[in-house]
Amino acid sequence: MQTPKTSYIPCPDCKGQGYVNRGLSKRAKQRYQKALEVHRRFPSNPKPVKPKAHLQPCTTCSASGLIPAAQPPVPDTNTFPNVAIIGAGIGGMALAVACLHRGIPFTVYERDLHVDARSQGYGLTLQQAHTALKGFGIHELEDGVVSTRHLAHKPDGTVVGEWGMRKWDAGTHTTAKKTNIHIARQALRKTLFDQLGEAHQIQWGHQLLGIQPTDTGALQLHLEVDGTSKTAHADLVVGADGIRSTVRTMLLKPQLLPLQYLGCIVILGICKLKALSEVESPLLDSATVFQTADGTARMYMMPYDRESVMWQFSFPIPEDQAQALSALGPEALKQAVQHRTPWHAPIPQVVAATEPGLISGYPVYDRELLTPDFTKNWGNCTLLGDAAHPMSPFKGQGANQALLDALALAKRITKGYSPAKTFKASNLRKRVLNKFETEMLKRSALKVTASAKAAAVLHSEKVLQERDGPRGGVSKK
Ligand SMILES: Cc1cc2nc3c(=O)[nH]c(=O)nc-3n(C[C@H](O)[C@H](O)[C@H](O)COP(=O)(O)OP(=O)(O)OC[C@H]3O[C@@H](n4cnc5c(N)ncnc54)[C@H](O)[C@@H]3O)c2cc1C
Repeated sequence: MQTPKTSYIPCPDCKGQGYVNRGLSKRAKQRYQKALEVHRRFPSNPKPVKPKAHLQPCTTCSASGLIPAAQPPVPDTNTFPNVAIIGAGIGGMALAVACLHRGIPFTVYERDLHVDARSQGYGLTLQQAHTALKGFGIHELEDGVVSTRHLAHKPDGTVVGEWGMRKWDAGTHTTAKKTNIHIARQALRKTLFDQLGEAHQIQWGHQLLGIQPTDTGALQLHLEVDGTSKTAHADLVVGADGIRSTVRTMLLKPQLLPLQYLGCIVILGICKLKALSEVESPLLDSATVFQTADGTARMYMMPYDRESVMWQFSFPIPEDQAQALSALGPEALKQAVQHRTPWHAPIPQVVAATEPGLISGYPVYDRELLTPDFTKNWGNCTLLGDAAHPMSPFKGQGANQALLDALALAKRITKGYSPAKTFKASNLRKRVLNKFETEMLKRSALKVTASAKAAAVLHSEKVLQERDGPRGGVSKK
């Protein structure tokens, strides 16, 4: 167990929100008053809508909502609901950290036996969530790698597009602030885990089986632990349990919004750079991301960490064949890639040098979008991350959205309750959950739709067009 380097508490000036309401500007007030006056005198003119006050970044905490402290706040069980977080993936772990910093009592229930139980192996690119990480007290990702050059090729190596900081600024602006940052999923998860330090409340080896309301308004959780059943209680249950979420299945009828196959398989590999010591290629400089496509299949390669690259090969295939190929395992997946990529260097060399243990493959799914009409009857349960809005990996947004969801929910809870307005089971949905879900579903819907579109475009002739910018209307992947 590690202790966090620094603890945090909510910023007293913005009450943990990161933004302060400075009211309406003098000019906006005058404009509104004038329009209102016109409407009074001439009622045929439409009544003006009162402008919303500007939220400005809080200068005390640089918009993070947090300030450093010797200890995290003591969980405030009188003011806030007791939160059960189901799943310690990126979204669940992030919500735990955000609750810790804000004094919201929580327990995480994760079916894996410990943090390293699975290889959890692939790389993520952090885009807008990179900025949001300071809201979790993370100011630097020690294991992150910054890319400064993006290239798109045809299979013979002809460049059809180049973009990124190296091209735009001739290498003068390569700071992490302005670029995407690549990090292994497990390294990001461990960074969040380390933030929890001694205070962490993760119940490993606890698989959620069911949730039942009780007479007191609390929710009873049914869990399986080492083959035996166990119960626990919470005021709020958050399903952060991934694309095949148990919580979601309980809240929605299983036949509603089932998984939708997006027509392709993704095969992933991680290759150590030391296994490529014979290969000289500027594409393997740990700061370049490239893709190569033939109008049907696509290879995407990016830095995984300072010592490895990650590749992601995808191609259209019927769902039953994708499932069968995935089940055949690493050697068959590797052969499927090699057979389809007699392409420019270093693609064949990287695939050949990838250890089978670091190769996996999955059919790609998402689900039809949820709307607040579905969620408004969920009582004191909600979802976040892939459980709420699974999407294809082709826009690299799933983890970014899960992080934003987690921060948004913790902020909503602190906004909804204070010592003067304490938690009651009867007002959680209205004060917190409806607002959280409306914002989350609206924000993530754009990404789900764009990610599905990218799955089609990136495996079509359109990807071969010459253009110095991301392919398929996508910002990455
Ligand atoms: C190849 C690939 C590349 C990707 N690249 C990117 C990228 O570049 N950028 C990006 O932002 N996103 C990317 N994503 C998507 C991203 O990884 C996911 O969207 C993100 O991990 C979702 O996080 P989550 O916490 O919602 O779910 P998960 O990380 O799936 O976590 C769910 C957790 O819940 C646990 N669980 C499940 N059921 C139960 C239960 N009944 N009881 C207890 N625990 C349970 C699981 O064990 C797991 O730990 C990529 C995905 C893939 C597959």
